[in-house]
Amino acid sequence: MHAVRIHEYGATEVLNYEKVDTPIPSSGEVLIKTEAIGVNYIDIYHRTGSYAGDLPFIPGMEAAGVVESIGPEVTGFKIGDPVAYAMCMGSYAEYVAVPHWKVVVLPKNVGSQVGAAVMLQGMTAHYLTVNTYALGSEDTALVHAAAGGVGLLLVQMANKRGARVIGTVSTNEKAMTVMDAGADEVIIYTENDFEDAVMKLTGAIGVDVVYDSVGKSTFEKSLNCLKPRGYMVLFGQSSGRVPPIDPQVLNEKGSIFITRPTLGDYAQDRDEMLNRATDIFDWMANGELDVSIDRVFPLEKASEAHEYLESRRSSGKILLTT
Ligand code: NDP
Repeated sequence: MHAVRIHEYGATEVLNYEKVDTPIPSSGEVLIKTEAIGVNYIDIYHRTGSYAGDLPFIPGMEAAGVVESIGPEVTGFKIGDPVAYAMCMGSYAEYVAVPHWKVVVLPKNVGSQVGAAVMLQGMTAHYLTVNTYALGSEDTALVHAAAGGVGLLLVQMANKRGARVIGTVSTNEKAMTVMDAGADEVIIYTENDFEDAVMKLTGAIGVDVVYDSVGKSTFEKSLNCLKPRGYMVLFGQSSGRVPPIDPQVLNEKGSIFITRPTLGDYAQDRDEMLNRATDIFDWMANGELDVSIDRVFPLEKASEAHEYLESRRSSGKILLTT
């Protein structure tokens, strides 16, 4: 089979399209023939070594396709089932053996492209709004990079929970997309000081929660946007890693909370994974959640997909297809 493999960390040229052995599913695994692969910002951290592991490796954390074969000790699947999965490294490949508990059968109304688009980012937006900080109608949330893959889903889920949503984006075009997704206000943070803008919009009160996936360039001011006892949910670092902070800062900024969550800890077992996926598919079926696919690249052009995501031109989801 063909796959994209990384032999050394670096820029997009380290994404090699090459022939590798087709995996054989072990006990507890399902072999999936890939149709669509979700590209996520974490793939860039893996490619550059910002999140380092063993080399060489096949990157990618989510995809959708059909069940090709089934290993021992697996129940609940049959060959030909349309399925999707997330949080299993190695999805930039024509076939992937995936632990069965991470695999969900796609409902009839969800094709492989949408399935691959919504698993990782959808479950992320789900746990952030439902569990990390359980948003309610009294809350105001600041969502950075609101037009991104996670961002657009987060805005919709926060809106659905009745919260007031303030988004930040880099362009006018993205601002319109975010308003269409249900944000109440949008700040173009590359042109305006978002801390000043948030304070104006909230009558100098601040927000209950900041969902910050941008990291280095937004972290400090995000803390200043919080109400006393507000929640800083730092869940990514697309602009770079946040330097260490002194816990005394939490006191100085108003007894605030900081958490640095990751999906793996919020989708720890089959029940948790299925509960999140089921909510997401139900909301899509009811017309309450729209999944926006921006661009689709062939698997062998994974480097172009990464360049596009890093360029900040994308809005919504980027996919690869086999
Ligand atoms: P996005 O589609 O959101 O792309 C990243 C966006 O970040 C860009 O479009 C851009 O939006 C913004 N950005 C701001 N500064 C920079 C910069 N210097 N370089 C590049 N982009 C920048 O990606 P994803 O939806 O895949 O992921 C969003 C974030 O969420 C990532 O940080 C990712 O690691 C994190 N994440 C965390 C998870 C978790 O469980 N902790 C799970 C999934 C994702 P704009 O142009 O509007 O500024």
